[in-house]
Amino acid sequence: MALVPFDDRDGWIWFDGQMIPWRDAKFHVLTHAIHYGSAVFEGERAYGGKVFKLREHSQRLIDSGRILGFEIPYTVDQIDAATKEVVAANGAPDCYVRPIAWRGSEMMGVSAQHSKIHLAIATWAWGNYFADKDKGIRLTWAKYSRPAPNTAPTKSKAAGLYMIYEAESAGYADALMLDWRGQVAEATGANVFLAIDGVLHTPKPDCFLDGITRRTVIGLAKNRQIQVVERAIWPDELARAQEVFLTGTAAEITPVSEIGEYKFTPGSITGALMDDFGRATRGEIDVPIA
Ligand code: PMP
Repeated sequence: MALVPFDDRDGWIWFDGQMIPWRDAKFHVLTHAIHYGSAVFEGERAYGGKVFKLREHSQRLIDSGRILGFEIPYTVDQIDAATKEVVAANGAPDCYVRPIAWRGSEMMGVSAQHSKIHLAIATWAWGNYFADKDKGIRLTWAKYSRPAPNTAPTKSKAAGLYMIYEAESAGYADALMLDWRGQVAEATGANVFLAIDGVLHTPKPDCFLDGITRRTVIGLAKNRQIQVVERAIWPDELARAQEVFLTGTAAEITPVSEIGEYKFTPGSITGALMDDFGRATRGEIDVPIA
């Protein structure tokens, strides 16, 4: 299938306060963000025209920028409104939404405190993030670890923290990352849960992104009286898990069939939470998140 490049599509992109034709959303090669990774972004999904947990995503975008030392020049309300506008303009009620904020071209020193902060929001139709979502995906071990929180901006959804290519070139869907202590952290862009004897276990998000989907799933599990334990998890504990799944906006809830030498069968806990998550995203049930 021929790839349709992302810079050559029809549609609209909200760019620094204006809705502009998709192909015109450009910036210069001497842009701070592509040299130093000074960009933060979000991944959201609209279901039936409504972005799930929009406010939480817009707030996280602002917080991510602050962690990298810049202030996005829009409020949460303004970002929410711009997002709704671009979702409506592109006319696909079920779509993925990508806001991105970055330092511009005014200064090329690393610090660049006086550079302009830009914001763009694009949307496109994106079905299952992982091709084998329904039967469970295969993960390998990641080459890199999530670093200690005082060595990288691990709470920011910042460009430059994403390393998936090795797993894919080895034939896996994704990789499970350990943290600097050797404990289970997350997949490259999604959080991880283990079901062990009817109880859900998930690592404490002390050095990686505490996903909005992760927090939603914890709420859904509690609604079902499924116990959730947030704790340090060592890799050899995967041997005791009957079910494993990933959570993330793109991944939604994706069952895992294999991590390295460990095998799992997607089961009833994963299935029930996938059903509940579908209902939550369609607005049929409300899940407040912490
Ligand atoms: N971890 C990382 C590193 C991510 O990029 C994402 C996706 N945004 C997640 C976890 C899941 O976060 P969320 O559920 O908020 O999409």
